[in-house]
Amino acid sequence: MNDQSYPEFTGLELSPRKVDYLKFILEKGGTVKTTEISSGLQVDPSTTSKTLNELASAGYLNHVPYKGVDLTEMGKAYTQFLVRRHRILSLLLTHYGLSSKEACDEVSRFEAFVSRDAVNKICNSMGHPMFGVCGEISHEKCLHEENHHSVPK
Ligand SMILES: [Zn+2]
Ligand SMILES: [Zn+2]
Repeated sequence: MNDQSYPEFTGLELSPRKVDYLKFILEKGGTVKTTEISSGLQVDPSTTSKTLNELASAGYLNHVPYKGVDLTEMGKAYTQFLVRRHRILSLLLTHYGLSSKEACDEVSRFEAFVSRDAVNKICNSMGHPMFGVCGEISHEKCLHEENHHSVPK
């Protein structure tokens, strides 16, 4: 995965609720029915539709007629970051006395407020770990930000 495939974003674009939507859709994979999202996240159907419309107009999702929604290319790249952020932060907390489960649960409550820049710096300081407590960790720009001596373009 090269840098070009990642749109520029701060990681702070979405509310915790919207983060949950995208992660849920990623986990389900492919086209996901609105009713599945609504029952999976325990949100009433009208709120679910409204939120999905907002995510679609912001470019994260496509509506698939009669089938539900799926992630756009931008949505996929963004959701990959959401998973990476969750895993880096969870791993971090397990270094400070939390069990894997506790770390996952804690991080799920605040992850939406941690910027991409901070996640990349933490990842860098941890030596770009390959495995988190709940899955593999992918890397993006964090791998290249170590070199501060490069000549600006
Ligand atoms: Zn987790
Ligand atoms: Zn990294």
